[in-house]
Amino acid sequence: MSRTILEKQLTDWFYALPDVGNMTKRHHDQMISIIREHEQQSTSQDTVYLQKCADSDIKANEWIGIDLDGTLADYSSGWRAWNDIGPPLQPMLDRVKEMLAANKRVKIFTARVCFDTDVCRATGQGFSREDMAKVIQDWCEKHGLPRLEVTNIKDIYMRELWDDRAVQMVPNTGRTLTDEHLAESMAASGKAVS
Ligand SMILES: [Mg+2]
Repeated sequence: MSRTILEKQLTDWFYALPDVGNMTKRHHDQMISIIREHEQQSTSQDTVYLQKCADSDIKANEWIGIDLDGTLADYSSGWRAWNDIGPPLQPMLDRVKEMLAANKRVKIFTARVCFDTDVCRATGQGFSREDMAKVIQDWCEKHGLPRLEVTNIKDIYMRELWDDRAVQMVPNTGRTLTDEHLAESMAASGKAVS
């Protein structure tokens, strides 16, 4: 029921009564019931509105996390020095450039910046999170990327994470994507799935 209809009905009842103090129980109950119905409708509309706001907030701020070592940069030589990053892995570098060309917001998502300050396990040199972020951004620039944001924090705006350590799960199943693919191919070949 719209607010206008609700107000008209309440007003009609009000003027129909000789004295508000004499409002009958039935009228009272009906009014309460209509008000509750209206409240429920408002709540439902508010929820839809809030959901739309939340969706547009997510859309405006969403980003894609790209791991560095082993994902965007070759890490086959392992850790050599805090300020040493391997050469780019071309397919991934191209992919990131495509994301940026499509106006996606991309962040380097790396444990390299997990501490405020750290000591390099290979050289003994100390460095800060800012030092490391600068090294990573210099590397980005060297390889034709903008100075991307660097983080190790997942937030509600992160839409995708590309990482060589990730195990992709099928939502709400407890099963990995690999499990699913395996089961599908086994089913397709007519073999039993354990
Ligand atoms: Mg990695």
